[in-house]
Amino acid sequence: NSSQIGLYGLGVMGQNLALNLEDNGFSVSVFNRKAPGEETIVQEFIENEGKGKNFYGAESIKSFFESLKTPRKILIMVKAGKPVDHVLSNFLSYLERGDIIIDGGNSHYKDTMRRKEELKKIGVRYVGMGVSGGEQGARFGPSLMPGGTPGTWPEIQPFFEKIAAKAFDGSPCCKWVGEDGAGHFVKMVHNGIEYADMQLISEAYHILKESLGLEAVEIGKIFESWNDRSLNSYLIEITSKIFMVSDDDGLPLVEKILDCAAQKGTGRWTAIEAFENNVALPGISQAVIARFFSNLIEIRDEFSKTQRPILKASANKEKLIGNLEKTLLACRLAAYAEGFFMISSVSDEFEWNINYSAIAKIWQGGCIIRSALLKEIEQAFQKEPDLKHLILFDEFSEQLSDLQASWRSVVGHAVYSGIPVPCMSAYLSLYDTLRSKSLPANLIQAQRDFFGAHTYERIDKPRGQFFHTDWENQ
Ligand code: NDP
Repeated sequence: NSSQIGLYGLGVMGQNLALNLEDNGFSVSVFNRKAPGEETIVQEFIENEGKGKNFYGAESIKSFFESLKTPRKILIMVKAGKPVDHVLSNFLSYLERGDIIIDGGNSHYKDTMRRKEELKKIGVRYVGMGVSGGEQGARFGPSLMPGGTPGTWPEIQPFFEKIAAKAFDGSPCCKWVGEDGAGHFVKMVHNGIEYADMQLISEAYHILKESLGLEAVEIGKIFESWNDRSLNSYLIEITSKIFMVSDDDGLPLVEKILDCAAQKGTGRWTAIEAFENNVALPGISQAVIARFFSNLIEIRDEFSKTQRPILKASANKEKLIGNLEKTLLACRLAAYAEGFFMISSVSDEFEWNINYSAIAKIWQGGCIIRSALLKEIEQAFQKEPDLKHLILFDEFSEQLSDLQASWRSVVGHAVYSGIPVPCMSAYLSLYDTLRSKSLPANLIQAQRDFFGAHTYERIDKPRGQFFHTDWENQ
């Protein structure tokens, strides 16, 4: 009974997190399922990456459990879905009251809520922890989003704060997010924002390439200069680097990649959950849809041949580049705003007691959506913890107001030039919708009442009074 923490699942993430924990002074027991008759992954790990380090390589679940200090802290890093249930069912005969299981995979938050309830029956505490940053993050400092059984945090805090990335002020990118499924929910929304930001950057690239006919290296330099200013972020940084890489023949590698985007599903989950919870998520949904559309290669090829070419709208190079930078900033702000709004809407329903400024801090380092803007967002939530929507924060609403002219000109330019900008235009519609004191939904209510007697409320009567009109016989 000597290891401080156990790690089940020595895949890419598991191995790197195990090494990170050990680097930071913790004794770690590791285990991985084993195929019959094969040399185990555990042995391989202990004899190679883990050689001479403070690991205990368990050869069975029994010895894994016996090697851990009680109450046990076990981090599971396996494929999300059924494998997690499979692992938990194998744990059942060894678990004891007070043990803490932490699922660090990309589990669906509803699965996490179910598992937490099931384990509660036997007195076992459960944490769903979002992990971001990929292989490198796991090894040298991930962004960690733990949430689950209340009261668990102080016991696991020392491990995860120590191995996490650092925020702008040097504090760990790991804080208790909230109760229940909050950690995995926040990670899911993180991935949704990631989809939106990637799509927005791709739309900017499309305009630079199609409207201005710029070469890859020049586009890379533009992204590089954007990264030095307010758009500073990991995704803009890697984008600038991508444009500098050439293929064997010296041509830009990015131009040789098939324009057909894949996805593992967490962005789609975010969009589905938004609908399930009656939350509008236009930008993230459009980013998911854009990936679906990118897969319709044959239809795009066939249909493009049937349509007359569009005359490119004229563009002043410097002006368009400047406007694009401002558009990306406005859209990025809108993406975080819709993500945080989704988190707060669902958190209110489940009473997760989410700490929003903590989330803005966690996302400042180690994760894919880390960006300079998150520092401002953290400060906004520190000043106004009950802020209903980020766009209502004075500094952000002023910024959006100032950026809107550039934003409109970019979206207008793309529309006239026939360049699809689903995400940029979805966020502009979001902006215009939320800045409209009145919307045409009154007509929708009249139509609903006309064909279905669904009734309506009136502007000249108190809310909650419903009226019906016999529209045909007026
Ligand atoms: P890998 O594919 O590298 O490893 C998967 C691990 O799951 C292996 O140890 C595998 O064991 C184990 N496993 C699969 N099925 C079962 C099962 N039925 N029972 C027991 N163990 C099983 O995945 P990653 O390390 O990349 O990812 C692990 C988790 O972390 C996933 O949920 C992933 O979504 C999440 N994640 C991944 C990130 C990344 O960048 N890769 C980033 C953030 C989160 P075996 O070797 O025996 O097959």
